Amino acid sequence: MNILNAVDLSTKHTFGLASQARRLIQLDSVDDIAQLAALTTAPIILGGGSNMLFAPHIQQDLLQFCATGYQVLSQTPQYCDIQVMAGTEWNQWVWQSLENGWQGLENLVEIPGTVGAAPVQNIGAFGVEACQYLTKVQAYDLQQQQWLTLSAEQCQFGYRDSLFKRHPDRFLITAVYFRLNQPDHYQCETRYADVSTRLQQQGLTQNNPLHIAQIIKEIRWAKLPRPEQYGNAGSFFKNPKVSAAQQSQLLTDFPQLVSFPFEDGYKLAAGWLIDQCGFKGTQCGQARVYPKQALVLCNQGQATFDDVMLLRQKIMDAVWQRFAVSLEPEVRIIESI
Ligand code: NAP
Repeated sequence: MNILNAVDLSTKHTFGLASQARRLIQLDSVDDIAQLAALTTAPIILGGGSNMLFAPHIQQDLLQFCATGYQVLSQTPQYCDIQVMAGTEWNQWVWQSLENGWQGLENLVEIPGTVGAAPVQNIGAFGVEACQYLTKVQAYDLQQQQWLTLSAEQCQFGYRDSLFKRHPDRFLITAVYFRLNQPDHYQCETRYADVSTRLQQQGLTQNNPLHIAQIIKEIRWAKLPRPEQYGNAGSFFKNPKVSAAQQSQLLTDFPQLVSFPFEDGYKLAAGWLIDQCGFKGTQCGQARVYPKQALVLCNQGQATFDDVMLLRQKIMDAVWQRFAVSLEPEVRIIESI
């Protein structure tokens, strides 16, 4: 276990804002958890910091579970069951799984963050969600002080949502279990236009997970800023869900509207809504709407928490005024207390 005081958070979250936490507790193994209750109450759980926005001073303790690595639990000709420690870097694990010949996570390459953070947000990209390949989650319930093994169903996954997201900082995820497909049992998802078009252009077979991963890597970095270049947290807002009636009215008023059937209504592309309000490249202080993808807010170098919050508010107000659609941040905002 590592206990750090007066911690600089600028390198501990991908937005890279200047922020300091009073204390960060880093756990190296599940054995460390036995000492937690005596150390802290109600800490904020930190993964790779890829979906967090921090105010300049954080008084609450931060808690990070750092154990890494994976082990194969069992294999059949169809699938492989694997346990991955929560502190493992997500992208490293995805590429490792592909190199081992397992299929399932190829659409989720190049997403920053840790394996433990993946179930919280139920990360998703290009038509695949983490929950499709996840069988269970091991977590420590900080409130009840007990260990839990939760099935995928018990995790209550939804669109960028889960039990963990609805109860922030209650469950410290320590390991995630995946069931991935073996060769000859691949079911790749190539329905997103960007993916299928590139596969065709490059004359690649649709069922090769490594090819798909490579293509998705190219698409992502053509559109998204690398956090090392411009601090950011990926999609800043969720794609809003609207009723069929509202989508129909919006389509009448805005025939170019980008929307997709979703659950009992429609999902709107938040990036398109923001772009239509003319925000691409708009700057508040040192916070900027990324010119190639309006859904991403970036730190131009010295952005402050207030810069980002002001830009966020301007965007939400403009989208509301133009479309009567309420945008909700996907990024978790940790304000000073
Ligand atoms: P895009 O391809 O420009 O599409 C805009 C939006 O339309 C996306 O948000 C996507 O929803 C939706 N969409 C596009 N084709 C669709 C289809 N065939 N069926 C259903 N929905 C469709 O999006 P982008 O911004 O470049 O992002 C590409 C992918 O990476 C998206 O899946 C996005 O969610 C994902 N991504 C995820 C994160 C994150 O987890 N925080 C960060 C960055 C990008 P969905 O978002 O629901 O897929």
